[in-house]
Amino acid sequence: MEKSEEKMDEVRVGRGYDPLELTEEVREKVVRVINSVEERKYYRFRKDRWYGGIATGDVVGCNLRCGMCWSWRSASHIMAKGFYCSPSQSFKQLRNIAYSSGFRMVRLSGGEPTISKEHLLELLRLFENSKLEFILETNGIIIGSDIDFAKELVRYNYLVVRVSIKGCSREDFYNITLARPEFFDLQLKALENLIEQGAKPCEQVYPAVMLSFSERKDYELLQEKLSDIHPLLSKCIDEEYVILYPHVVKLLEVRKLRPKICFRPNGIPEHMI
Ligand code: SF4
Repeated sequence: MEKSEEKMDEVRVGRGYDPLELTEEVREKVVRVINSVEERKYYRFRKDRWYGGIATGDVVGCNLRCGMCWSWRSASHIMAKGFYCSPSQSFKQLRNIAYSSGFRMVRLSGGEPTISKEHLLELLRLFENSKLEFILETNGIIIGSDIDFAKELVRYNYLVVRVSIKGCSREDFYNITLARPEFFDLQLKALENLIEQGAKPCEQVYPAVMLSFSERKDYELLQEKLSDIHPLLSKCIDEEYVILYPHVVKLLEVRKLRPKICFRPNGIPEHMI
């Protein structure tokens, strides 16, 4: 790791790291068990405009180190001090924001929510009779490595899992995350595990793909791979592009990443290459 990168990361992460090993390291910093209840560190609860309006809990801690991460200063690379919440505390916050704002959806975002598996599963259980849809935004690494986790998740039919795939190939994945390239496959495996366990493609699980750094031909190959998992998957890809917030630009510069296509915060597209 270069010195400039080191200052921007709280955990010492070398190039070619193992995200599952990093999961364990990060879990120690952001998860604790009190009286047999798994508590997770959050840094805020808020209303957000995405999905037509959604109550959002931003968790602290991630097992990847993406070079375009919008939450790198408070959740992923540097872990905010934050505050621990039990599943019931998180449930009350999210439910109250949703009900008072007239939203139909809640989500966990910020870092990687699946790092605290028991916390997440208990939170889902609490939402069972809320009539709210729960969006789980995940990079898929842990669900791809743990089919039992996928099995537990699909029990909740109001859950929608959005697997955010970092690039279109192993090489893109390495360039974006600095993690070992083969871990790219676990993101696809997450989709496969969830569908194999009964999640309906596009309705209960769908892929999002970060396309800012990818070649068109690699995107086409990825679409074929997604179709091989299930024919519907390539039809419901949520295409993601980097948004050039000033703090994101700073990270891109340190990581020497140049997006081919990205957007300014006001929504105007920017073609950098
Ligand atoms: S997986 Fe998401 S939260 Fe984690 S570093 Fe990448 S963009 Fe950030």
